[in-house]
Amino acid sequence: MFKKILIANRGEIALRIQRACREMGIKTVVVYSEADRDAKYVKLADEAVCIGPAASALSYLNMPAIISTAEVTDAEAIHPGYGFLSENADFAERVEQSGFTFIGPTPASIRVMGDKVSAKQAMIKSGVPCVPGSEGVLSDDPKEIIKTGRAVGYPVIIKASGGGGGRGMRVVHTEAALINAVQTTRAEAGAAFGNPAVYMEKFLENPRHIEIQVLADEHKNAVWLGERDCSMQRRHQKILEEAPAPGIPRRVIERIGERCAAACKKIGYRGAGTFEFLYENGEFFFIEMNTRVQVEHPVTELVTGIDIVQMQIRIAANEKLPFTQRSIQMRGHAIECRINAEDPYKFTPSPGRITTWHAPGGPGVRVDSHVYTNYFVPPNYDSMIGKIIVHGDTRGQALARMRIALSETVIEGISTNIPLHRELVVDAKFVEGGTSIHYLEGWLGHHKR
Ligand code: ADP
Repeated sequence: MFKKILIANRGEIALRIQRACREMGIKTVVVYSEADRDAKYVKLADEAVCIGPAASALSYLNMPAIISTAEVTDAEAIHPGYGFLSENADFAERVEQSGFTFIGPTPASIRVMGDKVSAKQAMIKSGVPCVPGSEGVLSDDPKEIIKTGRAVGYPVIIKASGGGGGRGMRVVHTEAALINAVQTTRAEAGAAFGNPAVYMEKFLENPRHIEIQVLADEHKNAVWLGERDCSMQRRHQKILEEAPAPGIPRRVIERIGERCAAACKKIGYRGAGTFEFLYENGEFFFIEMNTRVQVEHPVTELVTGIDIVQMQIRIAANEKLPFTQRSIQMRGHAIECRINAEDPYKFTPSPGRITTWHAPGGPGVRVDSHVYTNYFVPPNYDSMIGKIIVHGDTRGQALARMRIALSETVIEGISTNIPLHRELVVDAKFVEGGTSIHYLEGWLGHHKR
């Protein structure tokens, strides 16, 4: 096992990884930007090195600074967390070429999955069902594009092959709007992702977002750890997740879970990963794979009792998975609310000093957050400041515990989306379960303030 790991990230996930390392007796090195100098997890780490100014490009995305920090601190492995460099195949390659272990999949896997068109092609080959659409990247020829649109059938969605984070997508309802939409998405994708390639998918009108968590080792073992329902989204960004997905028959989930585990073996995947699907009328359609730990991993940890971050580290250290598919037991129900520093209804970011931070507690409540009273939320990064996760024997109990946890939470000095979560967890349709990815935006439209 590694003696020392460098954590190439910030915020709650940096603390989460640090906790996993400490439990395993592994020393930690954190790298931080000038904006994160005072964060408590920076002080808690065995070693901390400032690698640049607040701007991510100069700090958390600064590959030479991160790798040379690993060199001077004698770290053996680098955990990239999520976001930043976590899905950057060049970074993974440079880490390995410099003699360190990258805690994640091989650079080749990251590269295939990082391009949505090649990811879909790999999935089709591995027997994972995909959303119907163009065969690969859309051609430059308008006539061809129109033809593809007719074959797929309207509405369609134009998506950037290199896209991510809910950006680089455009829905098209009529043939008249198609060519313009393709051109705009291409231009945006070129500017945002450095890759103007786009593809077309059938736009599913009322799907749910259901994803499968997998773990695969270097010894040809691959398992799936159940599903998560992440349908509660705004602008394609998840805000609340739960496991299991309400109302989907177990055998339907099992069939897709087994396909995902089999696909991992077929493509030689290693580490933790997530297969994301849209689910409509009893059918699953693959949309993309995330080759890293996800924000919502705790709901799976609570229902399976498996520490996903520790598993990532064990797999990177070449250990075998310590369980088989049959020994994985799902127990109860878990829900996660992402706490964002933003206006709860206008969604404008709300960075600044937190004057009061009172976190909830009690049976079945977990809080993953790096913030505290007097913490200054820097304006430079993502607005998520933490997560409240609850577990109960049933979905009803988990919901009750989430309502109590949200009612106990006090955050003053900045705005957060806690008021929105408080409304959602008593909303009749959500409580019933099974709402689609469009539900939240519709709800926000009806609840104008
Ligand atoms: P990203 O990598 O940016 O997260 P995804 O491909 O995972 O992009 O899609 C993000 C979200 O966009 C999905 O959860 C869903 O809400 C919506 N979406 C993507 N593809 C489709 C589709 N074919 N039909 C309907 N909605 C879609």
